[in-house]
Amino acid sequence: MRETYTLKLIREIESGSLPLDEYLARKAEAIAKLEPLLNSFITIVKGFENYEAGKLGLLRGLTVAIKDNICVEGVETTCGSLILKGYRPSYDATVVERIKGNSGVITGKTNMDEFAMGSTTEWSAFGPTRNPWDPSRVPGGSSGGSAAAVASGESELALGSDTGGSIRCPASFCGVVGLKPTYGLVSRYGLIAYANSLEQIGPIARDVYGCALLLTVIAGYDPRDSTSIDRSSTDYRATLIDGLEGFRIGVIRELLGEGVDRRIRSSIRESIYKLESLGAVVEEISMPSIEFALPAYYIIAMAEASSNLARYDGVRYGMNLPVRDHDWSRYCEEVRSRGFGLEVKRRMILGAYVLSAGYYDRYYIKALKVRTLIKREFTDAFKTFDALIGPSMPILPFKIGEKVEDPLELYMCDMDTVPVNLAGLPAISIPCGLADGLPIGLQIIGSYFREDLILRVAYNLEATLDLRLKPVFSEVCL
Ligand code: GLN
Repeated sequence: MRETYTLKLIREIESGSLPLDEYLARKAEAIAKLEPLLNSFITIVKGFENYEAGKLGLLRGLTVAIKDNICVEGVETTCGSLILKGYRPSYDATVVERIKGNSGVITGKTNMDEFAMGSTTEWSAFGPTRNPWDPSRVPGGSSGGSAAAVASGESELALGSDTGGSIRCPASFCGVVGLKPTYGLVSRYGLIAYANSLEQIGPIARDVYGCALLLTVIAGYDPRDSTSIDRSSTDYRATLIDGLEGFRIGVIRELLGEGVDRRIRSSIRESIYKLESLGAVVEEISMPSIEFALPAYYIIAMAEASSNLARYDGVRYGMNLPVRDHDWSRYCEEVRSRGFGLEVKRRMILGAYVLSAGYYDRYYIKALKVRTLIKREFTDAFKTFDALIGPSMPILPFKIGEKVEDPLELYMCDMDTVPVNLAGLPAISIPCGLADGLPIGLQIIGSYFREDLILRVAYNLEATLDLRLKPVFSEVCL
């Protein structure tokens, strides 16, 4: 197997040529130096105490940063929100349990848009994360902290969650690899819900091997998550095979339509030539219902969010305030007014609206119908193709503050990522080039549980492109 960055590191740790203590000290130093600039973390785990010495699991002591909506026992988990400030879970999410059991060293909890609602990490109650390629720009979101930590080398690997693009968007903006698994492949037990029917936890790494490795650790059946699917486990590292002869790849026309930056379009086109040179047959395909994916996604996501976030009432969940006059509704109102940020409030209100009597059929049911159409179109496409491709994001990373005043413009950024979540399919974003010193991400979509195929396409493309990306602010540049 090709010796990619992560594999080389593992081999060095295994052989003892890089002592684990030295490696971990280097990572701690990278965090100490880069954090004041990047703000990738909300909480840093001091001394990386989770390492279970002596056990040689698959991760061999590599560091893993965990998005702050995934529970780690005893470590503050805020979801980027004031309403959960100070909350320390009494249990580990299943994915965290598996990482610890495989000798992953947990570095901390990463910054995110509040309750994972956003595409920039600007909507965190703990300040924005900055893009390691250009600190005046957003890192993408909502898992922006995880992607920035990996791109800068503050952490080797990271977990994100993807409801409508929150792994692929920041992976694309930060020039790293991020994978959103098939719905049901990875347990959501211990993930604080935004929109249950859409989201999955997934890996972020500097290379495809790192993603395959972390996916191998976290994937698998979990009886504690009723949507988890019971199927035999896969070692995704073994799916990284050279060559794409006979692969049929479809380019989704609608993902490259209006609103896509021409520099991104031409970079995707170059990648298509590379895929052809690797033996794949690449053809264009049209999926007309994708045009309606964005409104359908936002209706469904907001509806589910409004129901999920109802529990933060200051009694069962959420911040405690002093009780003054024993007026329950006033107390609850105060907790929610103070605890939630602007965007979360907007979405809860819109979500309640689309679910209310009279509007339910007009909006919510209609969105579910669109979802069914999209699913069908994908299922048909996979009768012909092994994988489908398009850009991960239609635009390059933009300046912090540039779009924050205009929610609709921000929602538009998700046009290429949300169709996959509506259908429940797996998709990976890998860097495919640079434009004006900023990374571009290519998205590879697979059929249900065909993570093996998209990883293989990504692995081969990564080798041919051989980009060797180094952000301006990273461990290697310190
Ligand atoms: N940007 C999308 C949203 O705001 C996706 C977020 C996510 O995947 N968590 O809903």
